[in-house]
Amino acid sequence: MAITRIGVIGAGTMGNGITQTFARHGFQVTMVDTSPQALENGLAAIRASLAKLEKKALLSPADTALTLSNIATAGSLAALAGCELVVEAATENATIKESIFRELARLLPAEAILASNTSSISLTRIAAWVERPERVVGMHFMNPVPLMPLVEIIRALQTDDATHQQVHALAVELGKTPVTVKDGPGFVSNRILMPMINEAVFALYENLASAEDIDTVMKLGMNHPIGPLALADLIGLDTCLAIMNILHDEFRDSKYRACPLLAQMVAAGRLGRKSGKGFYSY
Ligand code: NAD
Repeated sequence: MAITRIGVIGAGTMGNGITQTFARHGFQVTMVDTSPQALENGLAAIRASLAKLEKKALLSPADTALTLSNIATAGSLAALAGCELVVEAATENATIKESIFRELARLLPAEAILASNTSSISLTRIAAWVERPERVVGMHFMNPVPLMPLVEIIRALQTDDATHQQVHALAVELGKTPVTVKDGPGFVSNRILMPMINEAVFALYENLASAEDIDTVMKLGMNHPIGPLALADLIGLDTCLAIMNILHDEFRDSKYRACPLLAQMVAAGRLGRKSGKGFYSY
């Protein structure tokens, strides 16, 4: 089945970036969010991002106009009935995602592909919620979506080859570099990134060095563009803690235990950039 009509669920950070990226590459995209305010903010974020790209001469005014003309918005999943692919990027909550996937399975043609952008929920578990689990796959875009080249494609235990090949080809069409991984806690990206961030928090907790010095070691010594503690602030410390807890619960291995300081920071409301204070002040 040719893919031309895409549904994106969620107009937040990831949903609006995914919408913009598909629309920029000529797909007809319907972005759905239950919150009218989120839809409005999502569209505003897309316009601001396109304007920035235009200013840097990475887009022409005609590209911007075409991209915007490819985007529709809706307040309910019913608007997605004709889509060949849906990418779910709603809030990271299994109960919310389960009700979305069950409804999508009822609404969409049997051969439609159901993808999730989840960063931590098992794709195998998600696939088990629907009648045709072989059409479920992970498309894990990175933030900010229009700029980051990677799409981590996650194959659930049930994902069939045709589904995998279609989303792989699609990621290439979007100008991205897809990397396919098997379903497993944290996939590859967060399996490696989060324990590194957690170890940096332990280094701070044990007073081995200041936050600035820990980040400098990783930037100047390991050639990382951003230090792990600054990156944790960017991602959100609550998100980092939630992912560490998933790794710990699913592997039942103490090497994934979250640093007590990370849990304390979250309890104190120091969530990083979004709350104005984390390992650094903003
Ligand atoms: P967000 O909070 O910015 O946006 C989520 C949106 O989903 C909100 O606008 C909310 O109104 C909407 N929503 C909630 N329930 C809905 C429903 N039933 N139907 C339609 N819309 C609904 O979250 P985000 O950061 O964009 O994350 C979205 C997904 O992407 C999550 O699964 C997250 O794990 C994943 N992800 C996030 C990042 C990141 O850096 N933020 C990176 C990769 C993957």
